[in-house]
Amino acid sequence: MKAMVLRRIGSLDTTREPLDYVDWPDPRPARGEVLIRVAACGVCHTELDEIEGRTPPPRLPVVLGHQAVGRVVELGADATRHRIGDRVGVGWIHSSSGDARENLSDAFVATGRDVDGGYAQLMTVPERYAYRIPDAFDDAAAAPLLCAGAIGFRSLELAFAGGGRRSLGLMGFGGSAHLVLQTVRGLHPDVRVHVFARDPSVRDFALGLGASSAGLPDEPPPEPLDAVIDTTPAWRPVVQSLAALRPGGRLVINAIRKEEADKDALLGLSYERHLWMERDVKSVANITARDIAEFLGAAARLGIRPEVTTYPLRDANRALAELKDGKVRGAKVLLID
Ligand SMILES: [Zn+2]
Repeated sequence: MKAMVLRRIGSLDTTREPLDYVDWPDPRPARGEVLIRVAACGVCHTELDEIEGRTPPPRLPVVLGHQAVGRVVELGADATRHRIGDRVGVGWIHSSSGDARENLSDAFVATGRDVDGGYAQLMTVPERYAYRIPDAFDDAAAAPLLCAGAIGFRSLELAFAGGGRRSLGLMGFGGSAHLVLQTVRGLHPDVRVHVFARDPSVRDFALGLGASSAGLPDEPPPEPLDAVIDTTPAWRPVVQSLAALRPGGRLVINAIRKEEADKDALLGLSYERHLWMERDVKSVANITARDIAEFLGAAARLGIRPEVTTYPLRDANRALAELKDGKVRGAKVLLID
């Protein structure tokens, strides 16, 4: 099969083509697994974290990609959950403990990092971690639901835990946040959403999707916010998000790693202004099978429309470079023949 393979760790600033387009051995489904012919795979910021070594794969080379949509083409022994021809998706969770806290388990195995993922024509996954894709979504539209959407959904649940939230900030507005905004509009129509983004065209995009207001990251929102979800790779937005919270408000950081470049921005953190008054900070880690399955159902029910830019598989390096450069409107998806 054809695959885009990561062979070495390095900064995208020096290596603009970190992945190689190669012939790769066809995977075979083990007991309890399904073999999937991949049609589309989303491009996630986590791939940059892998390539640049912030969450490095334990073994190289590896096939990246953890937002894969395709059809089941072979069943491993004892695999009974899906049939040949079923359209399924795979997310960041390749396998884990199977309980409610499987996202935090030592048994967590990440798709496209710990095992080969979806930047390829074929991939395997345990049948429990393949989810039926609702008919409402074509392959490309479904791909970003599997990580950007599902982890956004988990972030939203953490942000709104305890109830009583009426205003939400979205710090950064890329693949995940544009799906969170639509999810909030559908599930919590009374909640006012303020989007923080540097690029005026991105702020316009957010307002078009139903944001109540949009401004620069260092501008105060129209009202103190009950919760903020930060999807940026930087540190300054953490301080800016905390400054926007009302007393008792919560910041949820939806990022697997933060980059080091602006870490000195944390010296601007004031206990009195940013943390006191029972403000809290929570990270969101990984994903459970239940999060993904629930979000796919909710996305179809709510009529969520992912905005996607597509690239051929062999152009994955260009998609990653544009993501690194912050050229983001919605989500990026690789199409695979
Ligand atoms: Zn992801």
